[in-house]
Amino acid sequence: MNQLYYRSTRGAGEPVTASQAILRGLAPDGGLYVPESIPQMDCAMEELAEMSYQETAYAVMKQFLTDFTEEELKTCIARAYDSKFDTPEIAPLRKVEDLYYLELFHGATIAFKDMALSILPHLMTASARKNGVKNEIVILTATSGDTGKAALAGFADVEGTRIVVFYPKDGVSPIQEKQMVTQKGANTLVVGIHGNFDDAQNGVKAIFNDRELEQELEQAGFQLSSANSINIGRLVPQVVYYVYAYAKLRQRGELQPGELLNVTVPTGNFGNILAAYYAKSMGVPIGKLVCASNENKVLFDFFRTGTYDRNREFILTSSPSMDILISSNLERLIYKVAGEDPRQNAAFMEQLSRTGAYTLPEEMRDRLQDFWGDYTDEQGTAQAIRQVYEAAGYVMDTHTAVASHVAKDYRSQTGDRSKMLVVSTASPYKFTRSVMSAIDSKYEQAEDFALVDELSRLSGTKVPQAIEAIRSAPVLHKTVCGKSEMQDVVKRFLGV
Ligand SMILES: *Cc1c(COP(=O)(O)O)cnc(C)c1O
Repeated sequence: MNQLYYRSTRGAGEPVTASQAILRGLAPDGGLYVPESIPQMDCAMEELAEMSYQETAYAVMKQFLTDFTEEELKTCIARAYDSKFDTPEIAPLRKVEDLYYLELFHGATIAFKDMALSILPHLMTASARKNGVKNEIVILTATSGDTGKAALAGFADVEGTRIVVFYPKDGVSPIQEKQMVTQKGANTLVVGIHGNFDDAQNGVKAIFNDRELEQELEQAGFQLSSANSINIGRLVPQVVYYVYAYAKLRQRGELQPGELLNVTVPTGNFGNILAAYYAKSMGVPIGKLVCASNENKVLFDFFRTGTYDRNREFILTSSPSMDILISSNLERLIYKVAGEDPRQNAAFMEQLSRTGAYTLPEEMRDRLQDFWGDYTDEQGTAQAIRQVYEAAGYVMDTHTAVASHVAKDYRSQTGDRSKMLVVSTASPYKFTRSVMSAIDSKYEQAEDFALVDELSRLSGTKVPQAIEAIRSAPVLHKTVCGKSEMQDVVKRFLGV
């Protein structure tokens, strides 16, 4: 097979192999790595229909990560998609009313980031070996809650890696904090900081930019890396479940050969829906890509007007993982619709960082026809949860509810009756209070774990292991530090 190389969306530097792109994360010029071309699926849908999740993952990922051997890739896949998931299907489909829900929340932290973060550590260590990197890889992350736990779960006890997660001590929910501070694994460190999320993030950035520290760590056999959602090692594994979903719907006879399937994705950073776009570009018969936002509707406005404008109030919603005003992965789409012209893309990104906004010219907007953007407010989100529960007994989380609401609106606004996949990004057990209050306001006063048991009763589903574990798990991480002490904490952990 031909090698597939990756280039920066901002143009500087030589093309790199997949494993080099995974090790680097961000390109040195601040751009994102994109494949020089999107490979075409080289496996017939009839074959894919019979494959397990792991086999599908191999069929898709081998076309993007061409410098990995078959054995390397299969080992990564086997280590990632194992009994950490509570179902052998890994990403089961549920037909509810006339929509298909793709449940991406059966992994260790019961949300969709597990799909990529359970394999990223293995792709990284394999990439390190391939490129002769002898250092241990140290992942540094600042988190406002969810990504931190998913990264911890992914990297825990992965040989050749360590992971340090900083969170704002008083800025995450009690359940989120409990999930993180109970994390097992000798290579993990969780630290609360006196400050907010921005302080945590700025502290991590300062550590990354400290050249003296880099030298010191290098001498001790360590190098820093990040598990950011812009890493192609997170993007490529997300393409897999779109191929898998289509193939399984074919297998069940829900789709005719070649029949178009629309997809609605609850979006913040534009990573998940970009993966759907890549699956479509590979030749999977996907129709419209419906981008669902909450009240932070910067993407809805972008698709409607061609102007991306982050200069607006940041709104806290019941779907916090989509409370985002800078959709970092959108840059890959902008690069594409700019005719893969890195200078043009870089000019937009420069405008974005200088003024907070940019506007696409008409001919570029015309290339966004594959997408449809819409949003739901808080009331619409709650209403969607209650309506689907009452109609079908299916309980969705708040992020999925945003998508479900938008998917139905899309149908009524356009009259497009094609089959619709709704991407379900979190278990309702992760956002129990919002979910239960949407079903009945009497739950607003109830205690957290009482709500968990009540949700189990209402939905007829078992309380996930991830939730059971935090009821009783011992606190293993007690470090708390000031903003200025973050670097020292990292050094102490590494024994430098
Ligand atoms: C991260 C996240 C999203 C948004 O995903 P993007 O990669 O930003 O598109 C949606 N729902 C949940 C539950 C998430 O954790």
